Amino acid sequence: MAYALITGASRGIGLAIATELARQKFDLLLVARSVSSLQQAAQQLAKDYGIKTDFLAIDLAETGAAQQVYDWCSQKKYSLQILVNNAGYGLSGPFEKHALAEHIDMMQVNMTALVELSYLFLPQLRQQSKAYILNIGSSAAYQAVPGLSLYSASKAFVLQFSRGLHQEIRKSSVSVTCVCPGSTDTNFVDRAQIGEKGRKAAEKVNMTPQDVAKQAVDAMFARKAEVVTGLLNKAGKFMAWLLPKGLVEKTAGSIYD
Ligand code: NAP
Repeated sequence: MAYALITGASRGIGLAIATELARQKFDLLLVARSVSSLQQAAQQLAKDYGIKTDFLAIDLAETGAAQQVYDWCSQKKYSLQILVNNAGYGLSGPFEKHALAEHIDMMQVNMTALVELSYLFLPQLRQQSKAYILNIGSSAAYQAVPGLSLYSASKAFVLQFSRGLHQEIRKSSVSVTCVCPGSTDTNFVDRAQIGEKGRKAAEKVNMTPQDVAKQAVDAMFARKAEVVTGLLNKAGKFMAWLLPKGLVEKTAGSIYD
C-alpha cells in the first residue's frame, strides 16, 4: 500500500494537508520534530478517518536527515505515492541579526531537505501509475523581501526547482506542483519572530490553513505546476510582475522594518 509522506505535519499547513489527504483515505506518514504533536495527530487521523498512520520525529536541519527519513520508510516497507515537502520557516529582521548557523539551518530545512527527499523518493514514485510531489513555496517567492531576504530567496529556489522538475519529468507518472500561499494563520509569524507591524498586516489578509491545504491538494491532483492560493495573493503576484522591482521590494519590506 502506498503512502503520502508530509513534512512539517505536526501543525499549521502541513497538518491541514495531512487532514485533507486523510479525508480522501490516503494512509499517512507524518514527519516533523515535535514527538507529542505528531503522535497525537497520527492517532487522531487514524481514528477519525480509518486510515493507517505512522510518524517520524526528526530535525530536518540536521545533515543526513532526509536519508534517515528514506531509510525509515525502507525499513518499515513504506512506499510513497505522494511526497509533500511542506516543512519550512522564516527568520525576520536584518540579515545580520541572526547567527550564520541559524540561516544555514533554515536553508537546510527550506531547500536542501526538500531537494534530498525529492531525489531519494523519485525512483519509487516513478514506479506508481500516478504519483505526486507537492512543494510548499510562498508568495514571498515572487519578489525579494527586505527583512525576510533569505526566506524569500529560499522560496524563489523552491518555486524554480519545482517548475524545472515539473517540466523535466512531465512525461513520467510523477507530477511536481509548487503551491505558494500568502499569509496563513499558523505559527509561522511566531517562529519567524515577525514584529507587530507584520503581524497586523498578516492578520488582515490571513487565510486558514484548511483553505490553503484544500487548494494545495486540489492543485496537486490536477497536476498543476504552480498555484498561488487566494485571490489577493494572485493579485499580489501580478503586481510584483507588473510594477518596478524597487517599488515592489520597498513595499514588501516595509512591514518587516
Ligand atoms: P508552522 O505552523 O510553523 O509549521 C511549520 C511546520 O514545519 C511544523 O510542523 C514544524 O514542526 C515543521 N518544521 C519546522 N522546522 C523543522 C525542522 N527543523 N525539522 C522538521 N520539521 C520542521 O508554519 P506553516 O505556516 O504551517 O508553514 C508550512 C509551510 O508553509 C512552510 O514551508 C512555510 O514557509 C510555508 N508558508 C507559510 C506561510 C504563512 O503565512 N503561514 C505563507 C507562505 C508559505 P516542528 O516544529 O514540530 O518541527
